[in-house]
Amino acid sequence: MNVSPRFVPNEPNVFRADGGFSQDASRLPVSIRCPHCRELGSFNAIGAAKAFNKPGKVGGNTVIGTYFATIRVCPNLKCFGLVFVIEAGNGVVEIEPPQLLDFNPDGLSPRLQQTLKEAVACHAAGAYRAAAMMVRRLLEEICDENKAAGANLHQRLASLRSAIVLPEPLFEAMNELKALGNDAAHIEAKVYDNIGADEAEDSIELAKEIVKALYQLKGLIARLQARKAAP
Ligand SMILES: [Zn+2]
Repeated sequence: MNVSPRFVPNEPNVFRADGGFSQDASRLPVSIRCPHCRELGSFNAIGAAKAFNKPGKVGGNTVIGTYFATIRVCPNLKCFGLVFVIEAGNGVVEIEPPQLLDFNPDGLSPRLQQTLKEAVACHAAGAYRAAAMMVRRLLEEICDENKAAGANLHQRLASLRSAIVLPEPLFEAMNELKALGNDAAHIEAKVYDNIGADEAEDSIELAKEIVKALYQLKGLIARLQARKAAP
C-alpha cells in the first residue's frame, strides 16, 4: 500500500545531462488505489511521460537519478479521476493525490462515514497519529450512537459491551484502538512506542471490521432475505 521512495542512477543515453525536463518517454500502466473513487485499477498515462533528472542518494553518494512524471487517469468509467505520478526507473515514487485505503460506507451514519473518511485521508497524507486519533473518535461516536455512557472512553467501552453484540476479539480491538488513539493524542506515549504507517493502517482495518460487524452485516443479511421467494 505504501509507496516507498526508490532511486536509480541516471540513464545517460536517454536524458539531457543538465537535468530538468527532457524528451518524452512512454510508461507502462501503474496499479493504483484511486484517490477519487477508492477502486483499484491499472492507470494509463495520458500522453507521454516527461523525464527529468535530479540528485538523490545511492549508498551515501549523491548521484543524478532519472525520474518520469505522468498524468494518469482512473479506468473506472464512473470516475475517470486524474492523478499525478512520479516514477524512478524501478518503481513509483509518488502519487498525488495520495492513494486511499478502501472502506465501505454502507450502513454507517453520516458522522461515522465522515470520521472514517478523515482517518483514511490522514493515513494517505502520512498523518499517522492524526489517523489513530480519528479512529479513537470513531469509537467515541459508536459509544454515543449505542447509548454507552461512562465518565471516560474506557468506561463507555465497558458499557458498550452490554449494549451491543460483537465477537470478543473486536471488543479487545476497541481497547487497543483506544490506547493507540491516546498515545497519538498525548506527548508521553505509554502503550505504543511508535505510530507509523503500519499502526495507522492496522487501526483503520480494525475499525472497518468493527463497523462491518456492527452495522453492515445486518444490511447484507436483510438484502439476502428480501430476495427469498414468498412461502
Ligand atoms: Zn477512480
